[in-house]
Amino acid sequence: MNIPITSQTPASSRVLTGKVALVTGSTSGIGLGIARALAAAGADIVLNGLGVASEISRTREQMTAEFGVKASYSPADMTRPESIAEMIAATGAQFGRLDILVNNAGIQYVAPLEQFPVEKWDQILAINLSSAFHTTRLALPAMRQNGFGRIMNVASAHGLVGSPFKAAYVAAKHGIVGLTKVTALETAEEGITCNAICPGYVYTPLVEAQIDGQAQAHGISRDQVVRDVLLAQQPNKRFATVEQLGAVTVFLATDAAASITGIALPVDGGWTAH
Ligand code: NAD
Repeated sequence: MNIPITSQTPASSRVLTGKVALVTGSTSGIGLGIARALAAAGADIVLNGLGVASEISRTREQMTAEFGVKASYSPADMTRPESIAEMIAATGAQFGRLDILVNNAGIQYVAPLEQFPVEKWDQILAINLSSAFHTTRLALPAMRQNGFGRIMNVASAHGLVGSPFKAAYVAAKHGIVGLTKVTALETAEEGITCNAICPGYVYTPLVEAQIDGQAQAHGISRDQVVRDVLLAQQPNKRFATVEQLGAVTVFLATDAAASITGIALPVDGGWTAH
């Protein structure tokens, strides 16, 4: 069930007022859902990701109008460490703090190992793993100074189990679960937590776009595509929603989650219980 996040969200739930959150890859999908949930909870937001400038401006304006928070945007390319450094520096210059860092940007490519293009391997490792190393190392000094920080790494069920033909994605997602543990251990005494969120299939426009194509390709109904193809590994046979991912992220940012650090939290309908 979707839990709509609206401007009607009661003031008592604006637990992140005064905090600044940067969400990489937040121009669409899960990242946008997380950014909206953090904004609904009162945090000022730095958006990042690829996309059409006018649409990104509209997203920022909507966020400010709906939730009464500041929303800025960094076009930083997550494959470029110097671009990531500029994004973190600009966040510090604009807001004077960075409390919540969500490493979400990610891409996928599917091919057997022997045919996996080397440049795709490098690109996936850069965006899905190395970018989180760079944002984290650059964000930590301000978090240490404030004695507060929340880092959430959007991994995947593929951070916990493998699937064929996804060598780079699975390697990067397992890697980010490892980075999460090390970050948690190095910061545990300083009011900083770092956790990985491990979604199974999440309903996003990209997933929706696959359903009709797969139905045609296999000659089966949309329902069968969802149940037997896309969600074949997911026991609850339901997609998670971006709103649910947003709510989990907000929870991890609150005081209630202050003792949760270094975990890889499956949000996968039972996939990794197999
Ligand atoms: P999406 O394609 O909708 O969003 C990806 C975001 O990353 C976009 O904002 C895109 O612009 C950004 N991005 C891509 N390359 C970039 C680059 N070089 N620099 C900066 N930003 C870049 O995908 P999504 O499904 O929302 O996925 C978001 C994250 O969730 C990814 O890390 C993905 O691996 C993970 N995930 C998704 C699912 C799912 O079912 N959708 C499941 C598990 C994990």
